[in-house]
Amino acid sequence: MSLHFSEKTINMAREASASLAAPFALFEERAQQNTEKVLAAFQKHRVSDTMFAGTIGYGYDDVGRDTLERIYADIFGTEAALVRVGFVNGTHAITAALFGALRAGDKLISATGAPYDTMQGVIGASRKEPGSLVEYGIEYEEIPLLSVGKPDLESISTACKAKNAKAVLIQRSRGYDTRPSLFVEEIGRVAEIVHQANPDIWVIVDNCYGEFVELLEPTQVGADLAVGSLIKNPGGGLAPSGGYLVGKQELIERAAARYSAPGIGGECGSSLGQNRLLYQGLFMAPHTVCQALKTAAFSAQMLMQLGYEVDPLPLTQRTDIIQMLHLKTPDTVKAFCQGIQSGAPVDSFVTPEPWDMPGYDCQVIMAAGAFVQGASIELSADAPMREPYTVYLQGGLTYESGKAGIMLAVDRMISRL
Ligand SMILES: *Cc1c(COP(=O)(O)O)cnc(C)c1O
Repeated sequence: MSLHFSEKTINMAREASASLAAPFALFEERAQQNTEKVLAAFQKHRVSDTMFAGTIGYGYDDVGRDTLERIYADIFGTEAALVRVGFVNGTHAITAALFGALRAGDKLISATGAPYDTMQGVIGASRKEPGSLVEYGIEYEEIPLLSVGKPDLESISTACKAKNAKAVLIQRSRGYDTRPSLFVEEIGRVAEIVHQANPDIWVIVDNCYGEFVELLEPTQVGADLAVGSLIKNPGGGLAPSGGYLVGKQELIERAAARYSAPGIGGECGSSLGQNRLLYQGLFMAPHTVCQALKTAAFSAQMLMQLGYEVDPLPLTQRTDIIQMLHLKTPDTVKAFCQGIQSGAPVDSFVTPEPWDMPGYDCQVIMAAGAFVQGASIELSADAPMREPYTVYLQGGLTYESGKAGIMLAVDRMISRL
């Protein structure tokens, strides 16, 4: 018994694979170098299985947790790190970073236009939520992206000269927006402009979906802090939950005071037996990211062969694992997402349908059959049911399963055409 694909899909997949040799070689080379970086950090910190035991209760002196934080700091080239299973998601970790950095009267500047949807509630300017930064007296200014989708360096520099400007937020990945994702080098240029305008401003990067896609991370080109989710790239598909922050000691301490409590910071927080999965996930992460990148490029190539527009293009450089596929009609979006779901290892038997998701102005369809609920390092596809009927595809723990999922999705689309 095996999966069944139509002859047409099999031929298309063969043609697609043949054209992807160059980007795949690049992804593999980066995975090799990033794996060596991770291995070197494990070896320097003498990782041993005694560190996997973990703690319960207060979690004082959790050697596994504390060593993992030093490993993260080394990999990201920073003074310190906070890596905790207790972060409920990426939004929680970024929230700790912002509340740690900012005080009443300070100004936060978003350098990449409107931030990720959930961050808008945290900031509280465009969407009022109880407990938001704005409610705590923090000012907020958003610098829209230029028409080409790149940061407006001149306006960012001007905004940073305000006396109360304290932190600049840069979002690396497009998230679920149509703007281009920012390459690490471009983040470096923004950080440089910000620090030139005002050396006392902290540059904080929402690094979600970007970890290990390039050889350098934002903290190695001038960012003061980078933050992300452990059920995306750096958890390698194994971390069961959590978030990480890497950066300047002072910012990490400030965020830790928000994560737990002032005076307690990162000293407490038991790892509840999850240390091994965080270590093993980090060990796997450069490889897993490579699998997700191959899956993304394969999907782009297949859909392009069918005549659809895709972004990024199959052969271009990437800085995150997100792939946009513009599928033109509600029917093709549904067929594609249902095909992805049918190829999943978990919940393959359910049929995703568009639904009224809270916080969206239209229906949304989501396909995901993941071992870890909501883990978008596992193959998943989401689409708001509105023009231009764009599917956001990301993840793929193994290229083999990612490729099979996309072939099933394409099969379903072409059987309707
Ligand atoms: C995933 C993501 C977040 C955080 O989302 P969570 O679902 O809270 O983990 C923030 N910013 C971007 C760009 C993201 O992709």
